[in-house]
Amino acid sequence: MGTPTRPAGLTDAFLEALVARVPGSSGATWKLTEVYTGELLVELPQSTPEDIEQAFAEARKAQALWAQWPVKKRLEVFDRAHTLLLDNALTTTDLIQAESGKNRRMAVEETCDPPMIISHYLKRAAKLLAPKKRGGPIPFLSSSTEVHVPKGVIGIIAPWNFPFATGLSDAIPALMAGNAVVVKPDNKTALSPLYGISLLEEAGLPKGLFQVVCGEGPDVGPTLIDNADYVMFTGSTATGRVIGERAGRNLIGCCLELGGKNPMIVLDDVDVDEWVESATFGVFGNTGQICMHIERIYLPDGRYDELKDAFVRRAANLEIGAAYDFGPEIGSLVSPDHRDRVAAHVDDAVAKGATVLTGGKARSDIGPAFFEPTVLEGVTKDMLAGRTETFGPVVGLYRYRTVDEAIALANDTDYGLNASVWSGDIARAEAVAARIDSGNVNINDALATAYASKGTPSGGVKSSGVGARHGDQGLLKYTDVKNVAVLKKQVLGARPGQDYDAYVKQMLQSLKLMRRLRVR
Ligand code: NAD
Repeated sequence: MGTPTRPAGLTDAFLEALVARVPGSSGATWKLTEVYTGELLVELPQSTPEDIEQAFAEARKAQALWAQWPVKKRLEVFDRAHTLLLDNALTTTDLIQAESGKNRRMAVEETCDPPMIISHYLKRAAKLLAPKKRGGPIPFLSSSTEVHVPKGVIGIIAPWNFPFATGLSDAIPALMAGNAVVVKPDNKTALSPLYGISLLEEAGLPKGLFQVVCGEGPDVGPTLIDNADYVMFTGSTATGRVIGERAGRNLIGCCLELGGKNPMIVLDDVDVDEWVESATFGVFGNTGQICMHIERIYLPDGRYDELKDAFVRRAANLEIGAAYDFGPEIGSLVSPDHRDRVAAHVDDAVAKGATVLTGGKARSDIGPAFFEPTVLEGVTKDMLAGRTETFGPVVGLYRYRTVDEAIALANDTDYGLNASVWSGDIARAEAVAARIDSGNVNINDALATAYASKGTPSGGVKSSGVGARHGDQGLLKYTDVKNVAVLKKQVLGARPGQDYDAYVKQMLQSLKLMRRLRVR
């Protein structure tokens, strides 16, 4: 396989126009490279603290007007954006591939996430944002209305593994709710979110409402958080703690979507053919760089060898490649640095006694950041790969004797983002799922079913995060609730001259009566 030919549409002029919206008053730039070749794609401006403050000031100005738009008019923008995002999905796919090195099959799936989010919230947003009349304390004479007010300017910090999805999909409900957004993508993967934002503007999103600032996280993060009214962060658990601390000090809310060490429990009645295909994607999809991907597989003692052999055979046959076509099943890791981190996990495991069943090596013959799909056996908790997130195409196989033991092993982790349970009997799998400590559990799938179910909140527990995206809370978290209460006639408290004992008796009796009549 030779050097891949960069898609013709990714011209210098196109890429330079994309990054032109990133403020960089100091003139400093970051070399954004094509992962497959290591060649320069474009010089990405780096934003100073003053640039970031200016971006917030412009966003705040645009937000004051946007919040006045009726919800229906705001949603019309996203209705048009849905079409534009899908019509231009292949250009987005080219950008995602060039900046992240993922294979084309995964890149094109990523382009579908923002349109799916738009579809979901186009159905829900108007209802969620409408004022809701509630009962007041005095029947008929009082009422309370729950009003959802946009928080203002939302700061979004996004990772490199799904740059288009995390850069756009979390912003869409925030914008629908009447907020402005300032996003900080990872330097490596700023192009696809920048392109997506240009499409939103083509669909009618007011200029200035969706700002982009770029830079290394520790340089940009503090100013971004200090100017934001809420922070949406996706990334590692270590960075999540830093973001959460600062948001807490500023008394602003935050949602933290963090890492995982996700287990899969395979029960003894599984259909091996169905399982092996999905498990292979669940482990190696996006070259193992999916927060919900599987890093630990628990196999039943009685079928261990059969299942292990089927899985290892499939992993060994996966087609790895650097190509802007749909051929390769597995693409590159995001960078040579990340490849070295993944290799270090494998080397550490082997040095401490684990066995490599397949893979285990970097593939510089394909590109600078490629690493083979790797299956390990004999991984223990003293190994890096046994307790911390590898975030690469590496999985450990474990044998269990009882289902109780499998559940205990699956839960023996600081993380709680995703889990997968496989069985021919859904009820049996559901009973296991109920006992796993995780924000998401997929039954007879590895990860996609939970993530693509946009109506249900999805987040992590334990060290995997705080809060959730998707579902009603995925939009309402970007609003403050204003409780507007009305009393039509002043009847609260004792009447002038009324004996207080009599008043208290009357009040307690009224509460009992209201309960009996189910008034409140
Ligand atoms: P990371 O935490 O290193 O970086 C994420 C983002 O935070 C980047 O934009 C980075 O520049 C920025 N950042 C880094 N340090 C910062 C700081 N001190 N202040 C402010 N911003 C800072 O994570 P990563 O390596 O880019 O992404 C991989 C991680 O993301 C994995 O742990 C993965 O599991 C996790 N992830 C989680 C989800 C989820 O939904 N739970 C989704 C995707 C990725």
